[in-house]
Amino acid sequence: MKLTVVGCSGSFPSAESACSSYLVEADGFRLLLDMGNGALGELQRHCGLYDLDAIFLSHLHADHCIDMCAYFVARYYRHDGGRCNPLPVYGPEGTEHRLTTAYADTPSASSMSEVFDFHTVKPSTFDIGPFTVHTERVAHPVEAYGIRVEHGGKVLTYSGDTGVSPALDELARGADLFLCEAAFTHGKENIPDLHLNGREAGETAARTGARRLVLTHVPPWTDPQVNVVDAREVYDGPVHLAAPGQTYEI
Ligand SMILES: [Zn+2]
Ligand SMILES: [Zn+2]
Repeated sequence: MKLTVVGCSGSFPSAESACSSYLVEADGFRLLLDMGNGALGELQRHCGLYDLDAIFLSHLHADHCIDMCAYFVARYYRHDGGRCNPLPVYGPEGTEHRLTTAYADTPSASSMSEVFDFHTVKPSTFDIGPFTVHTERVAHPVEAYGIRVEHGGKVLTYSGDTGVSPALDELARGADLFLCEAAFTHGKENIPDLHLNGREAGETAARTGARRLVLTHVPPWTDPQVNVVDAREVYDGPVHLAAPGQTYEI
């Protein structure tokens, strides 16, 4: 698998990065995990506008899904004639309704579904193209999922947004790459069931035997280097900081 960080800023975009969005590729198949603010623009640095094969939305906070409205426009009013075929979109209950109303207050009820084929995510194991994925509810104020993506004997785990959670531990167990949010700062914001800090991300990686930890979803007001140091204090494996355009072979 190849992972490309499209955007990694937490909660709102920074001057350097769009919000959460990660491109996962294998066997010529492109799966996008989340499409937060600004992600659609950045995505076009890494693949064509219509080259995605599926999208997974971890939850419906704007910093993870709002550019789906822009992507709807690109697919529905396609300029070279014709409308795009429905693209599989996996998201929590109510994804289609939320995106439809976010796009316009008087939307055509069916227009989103003309270009997106919505699937409701539950905690389960299923295939998306060549990937076997496992989803679990994680600890966040809204229905939110973490995802374990397996291909060719390798494992990528993406936390989505979550506090410390046994479900996240299950998803991250033995992962070759653990892409984990670290929105908070240890000692400053230890709020349960909302976000992780660097230390908690490191503890989760250590507990689950993840082989590599990539911290992401750090908001502009959080010092990312503090989170890296905090994670390294409790986790012996390599700790990276996600950056736009960064790629990883898994
Ligand atoms: Zn978020
Ligand atoms: Zn969130």
